[in-house]
Amino acid sequence: MSRERRVEEFSVEEIVDRAEELAEPVFKKIKKIAYHNQCRVLQAFKDFRVSSWHFHGSSGYGYGDESRDLLEALYARIFGGEDALVRHQIVSGTHALAGCLLGLLASGDLLLAAAGQPYDTLFRVIKGPNGLEAKGIIYQEIKPGADGGCDLAAVARAAKQKPKMVFIQRSRGYSTKRRSLLIREIKEIVEVVKEFSRDSIILVDNCYGEFVEEWEPGHVGADLVAGSLIKNPGGGLATGGGYVVGKKALVDRVAEHFTAPGLGKSIGPSLHDMRCFYQGLFMAPHVVGQALQGAVLTAAVFSLLGRRVMPEMDEPRGDIVQAVQMKSKEELELFARVVQQASPVESFVVPEFAVLPGYEDEVIMAAGTFVQGSSIELSMDAPLREPYYAFMQGGLSYEHLRHVVLKLVSAFFSLAQEK
Ligand SMILES: *Cc1c(COP(=O)(O)O)cnc(C)c1O
Repeated sequence: MSRERRVEEFSVEEIVDRAEELAEPVFKKIKKIAYHNQCRVLQAFKDFRVSSWHFHGSSGYGYGDESRDLLEALYARIFGGEDALVRHQIVSGTHALAGCLLGLLASGDLLLAAAGQPYDTLFRVIKGPNGLEAKGIIYQEIKPGADGGCDLAAVARAAKQKPKMVFIQRSRGYSTKRRSLLIREIKEIVEVVKEFSRDSIILVDNCYGEFVEEWEPGHVGADLVAGSLIKNPGGGLATGGGYVVGKKALVDRVAEHFTAPGLGKSIGPSLHDMRCFYQGLFMAPHVVGQALQGAVLTAAVFSLLGRRVMPEMDEPRGDIVQAVQMKSKEELELFARVVQQASPVESFVVPEFAVLPGYEDEVIMAAGTFVQGSSIELSMDAPLREPYYAFMQGGLSYEHLRHVVLKLVSAFFSLAQEK
């Protein structure tokens, strides 16, 4: 953009076009990763001989449910584990993670969070009246490093206490104090922990991270990885559910926590049409690529408008979350309103700040999604706390995201003119 013209003098179209030009080299990298992951996923489908009769569900106990078992084998292969639990009976990412924590930790065990406070909804899992601490589990948290990543030296010191479990969150979540962790950084954490404490279980919260890079935490030594099917790996098609992937013995124990000791993975009917889980997994690398391109475009556009964005347009990404700094509660509400109005479902709804179970501050959420609460479909959230960051993630197609970004620029221009 030439220095003689101020940003306000450009048309909305011109700004988005310019942002796209700036983002092009980043788009290219994203497409390469999506291609790599698409091939990886396709190979797994071929190796496991997925067939159309796998798309029928079972009922009752779900004994001998081959559709479910094959989907779990696919997840294990694709996410670098020995075994997996992929169930719509696991309601959400929080449920999957809480199952790993509560199923594997006992009184007196030490749980170490390696890079800052875990995602908001895990706060009560740790600190609540029925949470880990109430059950006698000891919890320690290492502050993020100066660059918002992981403070490896502090992890090394803490690992000498031989924690039962080390928790690593790949995504930044709603935090402005930390960033997402890259796979090579997760690998470093795993190596440091294992050097001082070989038997510690490394649990990774993989929410929003799946298919963002070419490899997954399970490929670099994580023992257990959990996430949500209405985020990245569901590809926008899965109607709900969660997954846990990792070492077989650990997956079995977590399964016995979810169902019952002695039953474990062997029960749990897939009930309805399983096609959405298979097809969603197949689509996921592409959909994540689309969402990432939208996040990068958002960063590029809002940088041109002089806003702080996290991550920067060309910063390496470990998740699909894009944060954009707003100046006030009103601006957050405007951002949410625009995203909602440009959604295919419930476009007529006006989002408002409200108290939500599991979250500490009031939050506003914009999501006009086909699957309720799905955040691989476009959604925007913001907690009501300074420095007023809007967090945007997901989007099934780049074209939709481009449209939303255009509407956002337009709305913020009008706001500037009113003032
Ligand atoms: C979404 C999310 C969770 C919790 O997932 P829900 O499905 O909303 O319960 C946990 N950790 C991170 C980093 C997330 O993004």
